[in-house]
Amino acid sequence: MSQTFLSRLARTSLCGVLALAPLAAPASAAPINDKFKSNVASFVSEHIDDWVAVYKDFHAHPELGLEETRSAGIIAAELRTLGFEVTEGIGQTGLVGILRNGKGPLVMVRADMDALPLQEKTGLDYASTVQTDWRGENTYVMHACGHDAHMAIFLATAQTLVDMKKDWKGTLMFVAQPAEEGGASKMMADDIFGKFGVPDYGFALHVGPSAYDTVQIVKGQMNSFAGGFDIVFNGIGGHGSRPSTTIDPIMMASKFVVDLQSVVSREKPEQEFGVISVGAIQAGSAGNIIPDTARVRGTVRWYKPAVGEKLLAGVKRTAEAIVAMAGAPDAEISVRSGGTAVFNDPDLSEKTLTAMSKVLPADKVYFAAPTTGSEDYGEFLKAFSNSVYFRVGVYDPALFDETGAPLDVLKVPGNHSPFFAPVPAPTIETGVTAMTTAVVNVMAK
Ligand SMILES: [Zn+2]
Ligand SMILES: [Zn+2]
Repeated sequence: MSQTFLSRLARTSLCGVLALAPLAAPASAAPINDKFKSNVASFVSEHIDDWVAVYKDFHAHPELGLEETRSAGIIAAELRTLGFEVTEGIGQTGLVGILRNGKGPLVMVRADMDALPLQEKTGLDYASTVQTDWRGENTYVMHACGHDAHMAIFLATAQTLVDMKKDWKGTLMFVAQPAEEGGASKMMADDIFGKFGVPDYGFALHVGPSAYDTVQIVKGQMNSFAGGFDIVFNGIGGHGSRPSTTIDPIMMASKFVVDLQSVVSREKPEQEFGVISVGAIQAGSAGNIIPDTARVRGTVRWYKPAVGEKLLAGVKRTAEAIVAMAGAPDAEISVRSGGTAVFNDPDLSEKTLTAMSKVLPADKVYFAAPTTGSEDYGEFLKAFSNSVYFRVGVYDPALFDETGAPLDVLKVPGNHSPFFAPVPAPTIETGVTAMTTAVVNVMAK
């Protein structure tokens, strides 16, 4: 970064957004101007090919939650090369990289590393063919949630910030988290903030099926609380031709799956969000055998805690009622309230959106409605709240109308689909530009 840029920064007058700055911030001036924009743009275009190569490598080598040793190893090595002090093994396969650059706020940037147990069907030349053992069974593995993009953007942001070191001060805390569901609580259990400090600011992002030139920020609660259930219905097995000598757990499981939806449609307050979905049923081995167990697993999502309590109680009561109705042995019923929702600080959301709008096309950075997904980044926010978690799109803008809605929903496969296929370069460009802007905006010299 040139001296001219620095001296220009020094002259940058205080602008309105600073009035919103939280007290933790010693940041003195907003450096997000045209010069910053062109510096970031040229650094990004100079390095984008390398970052796409990193992305494709992560994509081709996915690892399941808490098994991300290869990914973590690459991230640790890269951060060390950039001058970060790296501590591995925080939350099992997680790691923390610290870079001190003068007196200033402690700013956390977080990426998740895990992939999912499903078979990729994108047909890309860098598609995953990885298979692994998962809970005793062989499974394919795919980066179907875009965490490969998160890791590439994370490393690209670290590199960009190191290059722009003269423009900001404070300490960067780069957190690579395992397992998007459960990894953050493991890092908290390892006392991440006791060891490295409680962040003054936190930023994270998630990619998803919108246009790759867009960034969406939700002010306040941005996603849902998550719970789940795992129920084993115990019956009495026997010959398919003599059902009266059995208690059929497949009948029980089938009734359960259907009756669950009446908890949503008849018990949940109509105006509130809540979802129950069954994602896995396992039972039986042959058409003429009534098995003795059937296992049903599912997920529950909600925005308001009282709605969650109602839904989870409904799941449990429905399972118990099905057992009673069948006169079956007790079921093994596990219903859990898991992930907490992510809340974005409203003032920091405004401030971040304003800054990003100066660097990315202003009409492509906008406030959006909450999503129904979940994400355990919320666990970190039990220790601090001054944080923004934003979304970045991954697909060709021509696939969306002017409101951002897909023209054909089947052409923009979402997260967890075997066809989920971000367009690497523009997705990473938008991600690194947005994240670098968010960070420098609160660490300006
Ligand atoms: Zn994810
Ligand atoms: Zn996911």
